[in-house]
Amino acid sequence: MARPRELPDRARVVIIGGGVGGASIAYHLAKLGERDVVLLERSELTSGSTFHSAGLVGQLRSSVSLTRMMMDSVGLYQTLDCGWVGCGGIRLACTPEREQEVLRQVAWAKTFGLALELISAQQARELFPLMSTDGVRCASYLPSDGYLDPSLLTGALAEGARVGGARIFTHTRVTGIDVDDSVPGHARVRGVQTEWGPIEAEVIVNAGGMFAAEIGRLAGVRVPIVPFAHEYLVTQPFRELVAGEQRAHLPTLRDPDLLIYFREEGGGLVMGGYERHCAPWALDEHLRDAIPSDFNGRLLEEDWPRFEEIAANSRKRVPVMDEITVTRLINGPEAFTPDNEFCLGESEVRGLFVAAGFCAHGLAGAGGIGRVMAEWICEGEPTMDVWEMDIRRFGAHFRSPAYTLKRAREVYETYYDIRYPGHERQAGRPLRTSSAYPWHSEHGAAFGEKSGWERVNWYEANAPAGDESLRPRGWAGMHWSPAIGAEHRATRERAGLFDESSFSKLEIAGPGAAELLQALCDNNVAREVGAITYTQMLNRRGGIECDFTVTRVEEDLFSIVTGTAFGNHDLSWIRRHAPADASVRCYDVTARWACFALWGPRARDILAPLTDDPLDFAYMHMRELAVGDVPVRALRVTFVGELGWELYCPTEYGAGLWRTLWQAGREHDLVAGGYSAIDSLRLEKGYRVWAADITPDETPYEAGLGFCVRKDGGFVGASALGVGAAAELGGDGEAGRAGGPPTPAKRLRCLVLADPRSVALGNEPVRIDGQIVGRVTSGGYGYTVERSIAYAYLPTEVELGAAVEVDIFGEWVTGEVAREPLFDPKGERIR
Ligand SMILES: Cc1cc2nc3c(=O)[nH]c(=O)nc-3n(C[C@H](O)[C@H](O)[C@H](O)COP(=O)(O)OP(=O)(O)OC[C@H]3O[C@@H](n4cnc5c(N)ncnc54)[C@H](O)[C@@H]3O)c2cc1C
Repeated sequence: MARPRELPDRARVVIIGGGVGGASIAYHLAKLGERDVVLLERSELTSGSTFHSAGLVGQLRSSVSLTRMMMDSVGLYQTLDCGWVGCGGIRLACTPEREQEVLRQVAWAKTFGLALELISAQQARELFPLMSTDGVRCASYLPSDGYLDPSLLTGALAEGARVGGARIFTHTRVTGIDVDDSVPGHARVRGVQTEWGPIEAEVIVNAGGMFAAEIGRLAGVRVPIVPFAHEYLVTQPFRELVAGEQRAHLPTLRDPDLLIYFREEGGGLVMGGYERHCAPWALDEHLRDAIPSDFNGRLLEEDWPRFEEIAANSRKRVPVMDEITVTRLINGPEAFTPDNEFCLGESEVRGLFVAAGFCAHGLAGAGGIGRVMAEWICEGEPTMDVWEMDIRRFGAHFRSPAYTLKRAREVYETYYDIRYPGHERQAGRPLRTSSAYPWHSEHGAAFGEKSGWERVNWYEANAPAGDESLRPRGWAGMHWSPAIGAEHRATRERAGLFDESSFSKLEIAGPGAAELLQALCDNNVAREVGAITYTQMLNRRGGIECDFTVTRVEEDLFSIVTGTAFGNHDLSWIRRHAPADASVRCYDVTARWACFALWGPRARDILAPLTDDPLDFAYMHMRELAVGDVPVRALRVTFVGELGWELYCPTEYGAGLWRTLWQAGREHDLVAGGYSAIDSLRLEKGYRVWAADITPDETPYEAGLGFCVRKDGGFVGASALGVGAAAELGGDGEAGRAGGPPTPAKRLRCLVLADPRSVALGNEPVRIDGQIVGRVTSGGYGYTVERSIAYAYLPTEVELGAAVEVDIFGEWVTGEVAREPLFDPKGERIR
């Protein structure tokens, strides 16, 4: 075939998409020394969403990792020829709740060096003289925020990539992705087909913006994004009319309570926002994206009716908007995800990476995204915790375009709303329900949602047995019920029954299963049949990639139980390391098993009469039982620190097993409980939660989980921990560290606060002697120990009993470092 574009036959990395995302990944790959990179763009660079971006670069996001990525972007943009204007950014607070949010953000920012300042309404006006201070209670100000020219930025990144050896081909459409799926469970990319012929590649990066779902389909990979029309207006220049202004540049201004943002544009303004009635765009009759194949360099029709509320709000905040002429209303499509976070990482097809769904902050994010993606591609793993952006967080339920749309719509329309901890999204519910769901509904369950599952947070019917005076102050008391304390106490004093059917359950089977798991787990899981092991799987940095229990069910069959949201992630981590042959099979069996936990001092009294089988098997062991009429796999484990079992049965028996346990428990005052009580119970016992207390950025030693680590090594991450022969030789290709486990610089510590009504929610700064030394990973109230508990990583030298302060909504609450666990330190109640 004629190749007018003279494409190479092969390249190590092919990037699809010449927007800011693709250009930044190419740039960063070149920086890392990756020379063999080809970027393919079906039209001109920037001709997707990038060219019509408003160009604001705000750094403050919902998590440390995300915000750090934005900070990376700013650091990079300051060095590029991209029209960068470091004008600073203001965010107003106009309600008491928003003021609390700002206080919380300002405190949080201090823990990782983001110079976010709290300013008054008057100070905000001095910085942005066009604004009215009506209703403004306070604001935050970030001097390093700014804006830029999206096309210049993309051009600068592309040029940097070219200088580093990348080859960029415009007007080259990718029409196919070749996948080798000859080994089940081990599909991997081989190359792309383009309109000018094929290119072989080891790595393909789908940086297709709103086209990413369509590109993913070429390889059978679901990228759950939805194109939405997004608008902003541009005014005529007028600012020379404003008298007395001192500054060269206006900062950007966000007023989330009015749903609007501003930035200067020449002598005029750009103003946009997030309307309450969003406009998904280019969906077919199945609500699947069907973007016209020639949609490049184009905008959508102005949609004034949809923008009306935003426009009216803008006049309230900046009265001059009433007088000046609007020159253009820009309406352009952009890719949104169902949770408003980026969609990054390697897909289930090995070598096929995705970096898309930038949710209208792709310019702000591109610098950080490019770095993270390039590292991920070159090193095989991201070098920081990016779980909340990881494509693996989307389970199979997001295969449905209709469900994806419902979630994305809700997220878009509530974009600027405060997300209180414990707030539950409503769209698309109920989707996944346990076999005992009807029982929960009939008994007053307050449901939460996780990964599509309806899960009981608490039963409001238990509220009268609780104590309203324990309601935490402020936000922590918003999504709260006295029922939580009642369920907690009942579990400690009598027994609690919890539906944990949503747990992700994986099976690893085959003659190679034990060897694979031993190579991945830091603990020894290849023990006798029936043994249960609590373990982590580590990345090569020694960070905690997965955290779960493994049960050896048969010689060649292991069962893993992990968090509701983590199944997809953990399974793909294991598959990625599994040999590409038939010796090991790894699959998700979540739907096959209901799981009910029966815990508490009377658990044995409740279960014993229901079974002929002896219950004398030891803690951390499994046995097959018949409970009433139901075949059950009973695991003697606990996440609350009480005697008891997790009882797994085939799903079709679930309703019956729940009913049987409930009826048997009546005479023992059994209480049905929810996840909020579990959380309070586990905090008293110091049980860690992955993605909060422990993440890919912390090692088991830092996390206080050194007791899990096999000292003879032989697992991924061992040499980074300094254990095992590999570390001594420094020779398994990992970041070797000889000489045994090092003393970590930080450690997860338990804090108790002096004021029991001040409850930390996570992310609060912790200080000692006036110096910020850490950040809360998770917190809550312990109804047995009657203390407000928080966990935080603190420098190792901080001693037990050290006085600490935790910033809770702008108030420094005193506390101390406590010995953990706070409850039953010898574990006597469990055994
Ligand atoms: C109105 C509006 C205002 C915005 N304002 C801001 C803002 O102020 N700040 C901010 O940070 N972000 C903003 N954004 C978001 C920002 O513009 C996007 O997040 C970003 O540009 C997305 O970049 P991308 O590289 O992912 O996608 P795109 O720029 O869309 O690039 C994807 C590219 O892939 C190409 N492609 C698709 N299919 C193929 C194929 N088969 N073969 C080859 N190439 C293909 C397309 O042609 C396209 O060029 C705004 C967005 C809109 C719509």
